[in-house]
Formats: sequence, C-alpha cells, structure tokens
Amino acid sequence: MSSDKKTSLELFRLRKTLNALASKEGRGTELVSLYVPPGKQISDAINMLRDEYGTASNIKSTTTRKNVMDAIVKVQQRLKLFKEPPANGLVIFCGAIPQNGAGSERIETYVIVPPEPVHIYLYRCDARFHTEHLQEFLREKESYGILLIDASGATLAVLQGRRLEIVREMTSGVPGKTRAGGQSARRYERLREMRLQEYFTRVGEHANETFLPIENLKGLILAGPGPTKYDFEKGDYLNYILKNKIIDVIDTAYVEEQGVKEVVEKAPEIMRKVRYVEEKQIMQQFLYEVGHDTGMMTYGEEEVRRALEAGAVRTLLLSEGIDIVRATVRCSVCGYEEQQTLKSQMLTDFEQSLSGKPCPKCKAPNLGLVDSQELIENLAELAEYTNADVEIISDETEEGQMLKKSFGGIAAILRFKLHNQ
Ligand SMILES: [Zn+2]
Repeated sequence: MSSDKKTSLELFRLRKTLNALASKEGRGTELVSLYVPPGKQISDAINMLRDEYGTASNIKSTTTRKNVMDAIVKVQQRLKLFKEPPANGLVIFCGAIPQNGAGSERIETYVIVPPEPVHIYLYRCDARFHTEHLQEFLREKESYGILLIDASGATLAVLQGRRLEIVREMTSGVPGKTRAGGQSARRYERLREMRLQEYFTRVGEHANETFLPIENLKGLILAGPGPTKYDFEKGDYLNYILKNKIIDVIDTAYVEEQGVKEVVEKAPEIMRKVRYVEEKQIMQQFLYEVGHDTGMMTYGEEEVRRALEAGAVRTLLLSEGIDIVRATVRCSVCGYEEQQTLKSQMLTDFEQSLSGKPCPKCKAPNLGLVDSQELIENLAELAEYTNADVEIISDETEEGQMLKKSFGGIAAILRFKLHNQ
C-alpha cells in the first residue's frame, strides 16, 4: 500500500508523536530542535552544532548550560549515525525534560524521519520543541479543484496542500439581464440564453482540461455568487467524473481571485467534511454487515483481536478517542507474563497495585509493569501484519459516535466468516 495518500493511521501516529513533543517543556531555554533537509551535508550540521556548543558555554545558569551542552552532544552523536540525511531529511529533538517536578530532568532524544521532505535547515534552542514545521505534514496533500462561476465570468483554481494556483480567468460575454431599448424582449432573452449556453460550454471544456488530468484530485468545489453555479451544475457541461467529484457548492461574494480566497478560507472545513463522508461510508458498510447479520463483522476488543490473529480482518475500525492501554506485566523471578487492557489514566494505580501482589505462577511478589502500549497502536500493529486496512474514525459523525458508544470503539469488517463467534 505505497501511495502518496497518507492513511488515517499514519496521520494519527504522526499527530500523536507531534502532540506529545509539542507538550514537553524544558526548565529553561534548553530544548534543542534540529531540522536537516535532504541534500544537506551531515558534517555541516555537526560543525554548526560545534559552534552552538561554544556559544552555549557562555550561558550563565549552570543547570541550563549543562543541559544545553549535553543536548547538543547527544544530537551530534545521533547525527554521526547517518552518512547523509535520509531522502526526506531528518529532524532531531533533544533536551532535558522534567520527569516529575524540578530536579528530575532527564535528557530525551527523538529522531524523526519525516513522511515528506523537510525544506528547512533549522537549529533552535528554546523552552519547547519546534514541531510546527512537521505539523504541516498533517495536512492532506491531495488536490482540490475550485471552480467559481457567475453570469459575468468564471475562475478555475487548484489547491494542493497549501499551494494555490489560479489557472484561468474567463469573462462570459453574456449580456446583462436588462436589455437595451428597442429590442424585442423575447428575442433578447433567447440571445442571452444562447450566449449563456456557449459560455457554460466553454467553462466546462476548460474545467475538464484543467481538472481531469490532475492525479489524486480529491474533489471539486463549485462556488460563486448567486444561482448561476447551480444552473451550471445541473447542465451537462462538466465531464461526469468531475461532476461526481463535486464535494461542495458554496456561496461567495466574488467570482475572481477574491472569491478563490473565500473558498480557500473555507477549505479546511470542506476537507474535514470529505474525511467525514469517508468515515460515514466505512461505518455504513460495517453497520450493513451488522444489520444483515452476515457474520462478516465483529466488534469488541477480544473478538477483534481474535479476528486479527486469524488474519480475518479486512478493515479495522478504531475510534480516535479511545484512551485505553495494553499493559504487560512480568514476574522478575519466573518470567511469567500477562497482558491487561485498562484506561490510560488507571495505569499509575495499576502499577502501584502490583507491588506485593503474588505472581500467579510462582507466588513471588515480584510482578512489575514492563510495557504499556496504546490499544490503538497495539491493534493497528496486528492489523499491519495481516495487511488489514486501519481506519481511525473520529467522533464527529453520528456513525463515529455509534462506533464509540455502541461498539466500544473497536470493530472490524471481515474478509471471511469466523466460526464460533
Ligand atoms: Zn513468578
């Protein structure tokens, strides 16, 4: 499944990592962020850090000075593991993070190979990690066509990620609604209608030429002031492929560049809607299997886990909001291991409850928490082993709410029926 389209799981993972990093704070100005774009020499970055190390030696606060210098050394060490930056470049975050109040700082290092090329070369030492240049990868990079039309003219634009290009502006040549004196009203109306048809045909042709060749065209947004856009939509001016891609028809005050800007301002909302439509469709498929008792679905953590292990899952559906972890407990004496699923905020209590508790196998009071993994990750990994699609479903739609409330946030559409369910 290698395509340019980022899956909802990849986006979910990146968002989680970045949110976690963005929430970390240093004691002082001592967290290092380094972006190395592809094509940059690693040795250049290392030399730059050497200079920064020199500068850091002038920092007054002893603790901050030490923390910054330690962080810089760690980053240098990590950089040295690379002969050259990976194809998409490299981002390193490193710094002393308080673990549990002041004085409990520990140096944490994160190396991120971005999903798309980073274009900046940046070193920052700040009280926070500078994740914003990676945040932009969370935005969908698919293209959207924008077609603005009213009786006076039309504008065609393409929005790709954040890049907007106005491809064409046309004037209609259609005379106004009020005729000049002396003409027959009916004749005038006919003439105007004819001109309008010609104009619509012309816009349709240009739109087909412009938008049809675009790969990954996610949708077409039709916009403009007044009712003309609806007349255009109703007629057969657009290729049916494009017609099916119309995701929204919106009112704007203008039809030219200003109108395009109006659409772009609304674009994030429109794109979210597109994802919601996808989520609804996926959920409706699941609900169909439920409603028709086909046996081609299952839900609940245990059932879904079993189906995943059997390789029976086609699509794994997980609610974005499920805050549950899978904890692994091990006995340090006999090696006994078990896994438990619990709410993430219960993890600390759970860990404490283990102390003094006898091991079910050897009875020694040596159980300890050795690992905890978010349930979403845990199940998503299982899904990846068997090439199941993973869809992270938001609770923004009614169907998404249903997944969370009625099915515990964990469900699956199956490839084949499982026995003894
Ligand atoms: Zn034991």
